Amino acid sequence: MSETIYQFKVTLKEIYPPIWRRFQVRSDITFCELHKTLQVVMGWWNCHLHLFQVDALTITDKKTLAEWSEDGTPDHVIQLDKIVKQEDTTFTYEYDFGDSWEHELVLEAILPVDETAVYPCCLAGERACPPEDCGGPWGYKLFLEALQNPEHEEHSNYLTWVGGAFDSEAFDLDHVTRQLREGVYWQGEMVAPPLTSTQTFTPQGQWFWDSIPEHIQAKIISTVWCPHCGDATTIVNFKGNIKQGDLLLRGECIRCGGFVTRLIEGS
Ligand SMILES: [Zn+2]
Repeated sequence: MSETIYQFKVTLKEIYPPIWRRFQVRSDITFCELHKTLQVVMGWWNCHLHLFQVDALTITDKKTLAEWSEDGTPDHVIQLDKIVKQEDTTFTYEYDFGDSWEHELVLEAILPVDETAVYPCCLAGERACPPEDCGGPWGYKLFLEALQNPEHEEHSNYLTWVGGAFDSEAFDLDHVTRQLREGVYWQGEMVAPPLTSTQTFTPQGQWFWDSIPEHIQAKIISTVWCPHCGDATTIVNFKGNIKQGDLLLRGECIRCGGFVTRLIEGS
C-alpha cells in the first residue's frame, strides 16, 4: 500500500454559500474508489452516473462508457497518483448528468501516511448535501427559497418531498466518519460498504466477487454471523478465495475484531 496521502478539498460549483469537504485518501487508490469516497463525504446516494475530467482525460465507470458511449477510460483500472501528481492540481467530478452537479477537486497537500489514522477520512466540511434529484444548482436555489418561505406556493410540496425537514446549514462530521468506517445504511440495510475496510482476492475470487451486484455485495458483508458476538455483523478487512466452486471470505468482525467467515455458494 502507498506511503503517501492525498488531501483534497471538494467544493460543489455554483452554490453560495459553498458546500465543501476536506478529506484524505491513500494516493494509490483507483478513481473508482475516489468516486465512492466522494459519494460518502458529500452525502450523495450513488444512484446516478458520474465522471471525472482531468484536463483532456475523461475517467468514468464501465456502465457510463457503455450507456453514453463516452470516449473515456474506465475508473477501476486507473490509479489516482498515476494521473494526479502535483499539489494544487484541480479537476472536476460530475455527478448525475441530469442535475449536473459539478464538483471542483483541489489536491491541497501530499502527505506521508499517519500510521495511527484510518483512510479514507473526512477532516472538515460545511453545509448539507443537496437532496438527490432537486434539479441541480438552479433547482436547489428554488428549493431553498420555497423551503425558507412559508408563503411560497411550493413550500408544503417541497417540505413533503424532502421528508418533512431540511437544514441546508447542517454538516455532521462524526456521521460521515461513521459511514466511511461502518458503511452507509438506508432503512436498516447497508447500501454502501465500509470504505476503510481492505479486501483482497485471488484472481478467481475477484472474478466471482465482481460478478455479484454491488447492493448484494453490501448485503452479504453486512449479514455475517459472528460466533464471538453471537450476532449478525459486518465482515471487514477480508480475503476472498475460491473453495470447491464457492467463494470463501475470511476477515474480522467490525465490532469485536474476532475472526469471521462467509461462504458464498457458486452458481
Ligand atoms: Zn464479533
